[in-house]
Amino acid sequence: MKTDVLIIGGGPGGAATAMFLVREGIKPVILEQEEFPRYHIGESLTGEGGQVLRRLGFEGEMTKREHPVKHGVRVFGTTGQNSWYVPVSARDKEWNLSFSTTWQVRRSDFDTMMLKEAETRGATVMRGTATKPLLADDGAVRGVTVRWPDGKSEDIETQIVLDCSGQATFLANQRVTGPKYVGSYDKQVAFFSQVTGAVRGPGISGEDAKDNTLIFYAKKFHWAWFIPIDGDVVSVGMVTPRADFLAKKQTPEEFFRNELYDINPEVRKRIPEMNLVEKVHVIPNYSYQVRGFCGKGFICIGDAHRFIDPIFSFGLTVTMREAEFAAPLVREYLEGKRRNGDNPFAEHQVFCEKGIDNLEDMIDLFWEQPFAFATFVYHRYPDQLTDAFAGRIYPTEHQPSPAVVAFRKMLKRTREYDQDVYSVPIGSRFHPERAALWEPNSPVATTEQWMGAR
Ligand SMILES: Cc1cc2nc3c(=O)[nH]c(=O)nc-3n(C[C@H](O)[C@H](O)[C@H](O)COP(=O)(O)OP(=O)(O)OC[C@H]3O[C@@H](n4cnc5c(N)ncnc54)[C@H](O)[C@@H]3O)c2cc1C
Repeated sequence: MKTDVLIIGGGPGGAATAMFLVREGIKPVILEQEEFPRYHIGESLTGEGGQVLRRLGFEGEMTKREHPVKHGVRVFGTTGQNSWYVPVSARDKEWNLSFSTTWQVRRSDFDTMMLKEAETRGATVMRGTATKPLLADDGAVRGVTVRWPDGKSEDIETQIVLDCSGQATFLANQRVTGPKYVGSYDKQVAFFSQVTGAVRGPGISGEDAKDNTLIFYAKKFHWAWFIPIDGDVVSVGMVTPRADFLAKKQTPEEFFRNELYDINPEVRKRIPEMNLVEKVHVIPNYSYQVRGFCGKGFICIGDAHRFIDPIFSFGLTVTMREAEFAAPLVREYLEGKRRNGDNPFAEHQVFCEKGIDNLEDMIDLFWEQPFAFATFVYHRYPDQLTDAFAGRIYPTEHQPSPAVVAFRKMLKRTREYDQDVYSVPIGSRFHPERAALWEPNSPVATTEQWMGAR
């Protein structure tokens, strides 16, 4: 089989990539290994995540489907008595700042909507698993081998592969990209489920709006989230260091039930009873960075190359924004441009890295100096932090902002970029002790695999 563009993965990154490509006049094939709808974590959008959906024409559909409207995020400090709030915001063309809204989504519904719409607009969606890349003599990716649900395999030849395989990081695990490094937050484990009967904010808009995200801070690397995903159900998750979980020798559900209330006194107020309506899922080792994630015949998008930490909900925004950035470059590639040199997408790669580096510095400062961070939010850099929380993180968006520059100063960190060296993996320069390679060919484990191996 042959196609010009093959997208691996039909999550929001893959579906958004397909829809942006259709706008460029390209009809890609999306290969997705799972039957949708399927459960997925990652339910809160940022302001710019909402704007991508608006640009894709989904505003009416999101409203019709009654996805909860998010006005902002409130972060509770350790005692639960103090909190700070960041509103969802937008910028117009003149860079004027205004309040805005975005959405919370139940991923099984949202991802299915996105994938179906990509198909309606012209993509071909095929159920199958990419198992092996096909490489040309010069190392360029020229397709993949696919295993179909009936167990048969087939090669798909293509001019370009867009890896949107999420944390499975297909091309990295196949060693097509540069190395994959563990990130700073790889020692944390996320436990999450969904509850009913939770106590939301009393308002319909602004700071106390009922569908806002709540974050409960405990201490370094211990925190929990509260994300309403429909009128009754709230997604609740807890992140703790892996060592704490291993020491307790409990099942994930026992650990979740026993520890969640200890995170922060506000949790019990918000979740008076733990009526779980979904099993307790676990994701360990979610923090990594893939070097050299673009090259001849391939671009990795979103989680397929980097994920830092779920706090502040940037995953969907990054994957959909990278999809939007990549689409015109793919068109140019198919038109025969960008064929010279080792990496036709080197600039795109550095551009994306710069954006996520800004996020990483913000998240690192939050963990290293939470009180200074709260002061920055309210007093020193309120507008710049509102931008960052909205996902305006890229060089074309006045970044790095004075706030990010201040973060770097406080973290004693510099960032350098080189078109050949690409971005420096987290770990090597800033945290030498953590500059570890990801275990090759070991995708992030499922709950079951991880429990079995423990
Ligand atoms: C604990 C936790 C909480 C999070 N909370 C948030 C949040 O609140 N907000 C937010 O925006 N983000 C959040 N995220 C991040 C978010 O989940 C991801 O960033 C987002 O899902 C990335 O979308 P994607 O399309 O790139 O990948 P995915 O959504 O993971 O989609 C990848 C798809 O590729 C398919 N696939 C994989 N390998 C293959 C293969 N070989 N062949 C065919 N198909 C394949 C998979 O089946 C999957 O459907 C969270 C992450 C974690 C770990």
